[in-house]
Amino acid sequence: MSVIRILPEAVANKIAAGEVVERPASVAKELVENSLDAGAHEIEIHVESGGRRLIRVADNGCGMTRDDTLLAFERHATSKIKSAEDLDEISTLGFRGEALPSIAAVSRMTLETRQGSEEVGTRVEISGGRLRDVKEMVRPGGTKIDVQSLFFNTPARRKFLRSESTELGHIASMVTHYALAHPDKGFRLTSMTNEILKASPVGSHRERLYQVMGGQMLDQLVEFGPVERLMPLPNAPDVEADAEPEVSPAVFRIFGFASRPEVHKLNRNQIYFFVNRRLVRDRLVLHALTEAYRNILPAGISPVSLVFLDLPPTEVDVNVHPSKAEVRFRNGAFVHDLVRDSVLQALKAARPVAAFPMPKQPETTKPAEAAPAPPHGQDLEPFPTRQRGTPAPAQAPGFRLSAPRPQPSTAYLPLAEAALSTYAPPPPAAWSVPCSADAIPESRIGEFPSDLQPLGQIQSSFIVATNIEGLWIIDQHVAHERILFEQHLSRRQASKLEGQRLLLPIVVDLRPEQRVTFQNIADELTANGFEVEPFGQGSVAVKAAPADIHPDDVEKLVREILESLGREARALSLDELRRKIAASVACHAAIKVNRPLDQEKMGWLLVELSKTDCPMTCPHGRPVVLRYDMKEIQKAFKRI
Ligand code: ADP
Ligand code: MG
Repeated sequence: MSVIRILPEAVANKIAAGEVVERPASVAKELVENSLDAGAHEIEIHVESGGRRLIRVADNGCGMTRDDTLLAFERHATSKIKSAEDLDEISTLGFRGEALPSIAAVSRMTLETRQGSEEVGTRVEISGGRLRDVKEMVRPGGTKIDVQSLFFNTPARRKFLRSESTELGHIASMVTHYALAHPDKGFRLTSMTNEILKASPVGSHRERLYQVMGGQMLDQLVEFGPVERLMPLPNAPDVEADAEPEVSPAVFRIFGFASRPEVHKLNRNQIYFFVNRRLVRDRLVLHALTEAYRNILPAGISPVSLVFLDLPPTEVDVNVHPSKAEVRFRNGAFVHDLVRDSVLQALKAARPVAAFPMPKQPETTKPAEAAPAPPHGQDLEPFPTRQRGTPAPAQAPGFRLSAPRPQPSTAYLPLAEAALSTYAPPPPAAWSVPCSADAIPESRIGEFPSDLQPLGQIQSSFIVATNIEGLWIIDQHVAHERILFEQHLSRRQASKLEGQRLLLPIVVDLRPEQRVTFQNIADELTANGFEVEPFGQGSVAVKAAPADIHPDDVEKLVREILESLGREARALSLDELRRKIAASVACHAAIKVNRPLDQEKMGWLLVELSKTDCPMTCPHGRPVVLRYDMKEIQKAFKRI
């Protein structure tokens, strides 16, 4: 007896839906792509309950006739390609004819459409893939699709949905991407309570970037291109000089925006790469960007980049990924080098400064340009090393750093000048001998002692201390961060925190996705001492911030909190959210590296650190303390 059978259409559609419709954002993506393919100039997206209850996409595109509307729900029904050859030259966003039947298989869908030339439109209702109703209707040209009760008949999928705001966040980034790629089209994204994005048609990508991401982002970017380059013909045979080439070389056009060297991101979330206006992930291009920023950004730090590459559709295969998120280039090496060289040129033209400590710049150099970037990729601003002979700034133990800060210095001073000023210990013999690798034990230690005697600092950044157990080196920034983190968190757990009012509100532009995150955590921010209010479209005004934060740091702090909560993290528990906020606040309030400390402050820091629950690691997981065990030191000197 035969056991193999062809699955019914409805089952096949559900299976296809498994690949195409991963979450509400994938539904919205397919519908927006269809609207763009239909030549729409205005696209409105409305979402309820993170897309579980409703995803509505309405456009003023070409619309469909009644017959086409019904056909569109058949699998592999598409108006975009006709033959297998067309697959080699896809110039539309869609081509597989799978989206509508797949979405309709796992939701209740209502589609209303009218083609411009037709008198009346069509309204179709489909539930779980079954056609429920078709009728004529009067409506404007274009198409409106309502997808309701997504995954109502696939409970397993429904269970994997994240919180409403997480799902809405995904939709917001998707709409942002398409809005960035199509400045000549209008986009609007709304939820039940908010307008998350509104971008009316504009004449340039620059204007669109401003609309969507705000002026602060634009200020951080250098624009490049458009540059057109001809791709050399593949293995062109030796043609006679006068023979006409049969194929003309492909024209590649590249343009975009790359962040200035001082912009440091801890992940690659803000690297956008568009191929023929389709956002794609591409390892090759990430590598090209890493190469362009080599020697400009410290290792492990990412830039912000938007790269738009337009090329003949024959040069790229978009049929390699179920949701078309990846593509394959016919000549990857050419694309790689084109991206790298274009970005590099833009950065050179913008006169980047090296990211690493450099000798003091001449007076004429603008401080903003000359300030060295942080030494290890954190958002830490180097503090000036005090010149020899100048007294240490008086500061009460406890490091309230709200007093006006000195200007960042333009260079690190060489070690010899590093101020161990207030305390000049006779250097123990061990100090003059470099520790060999095996003499350096791991930074694993049991208890952190409360009897450490500070000896001084290394490069005004690391405290050197001793006790009977040996030699200790403490990273002053992360140590203080750990202390403040625990203090802030325990005060927050006990009650609502009061912030300090800022003299002038600080306006922070948010990306649409960050606006969603912000709405979600606004109450907790308030309870942490922030006072933040919506300010115009896409921005917030910060009127108060936690007491230890210097006003100059407020904008960075708010951004960092929103960024560290990334998309997935929007489903955080309240406890995790509080920890994240406390960690960010602590990082920005903590004493920085490159800052001379007197004996009293070093002593205070070590005692407070010993009182914390977890003195060995900072809230971000980096080590705080290194210990050189006395036994190891003696062994290294062959004394035992
Ligand atoms: P694909 O986009 O791969 O062709 P879809 O299932 O997404 O497949 O859509 C099927 C067809 O329905 C499209 O080829 C197009 O002709 C038509 N269609 C879908 N959405 C729209 C729309 N918003 N406006 C006009 N036509 C549409
Ligand atoms: Mg489609």
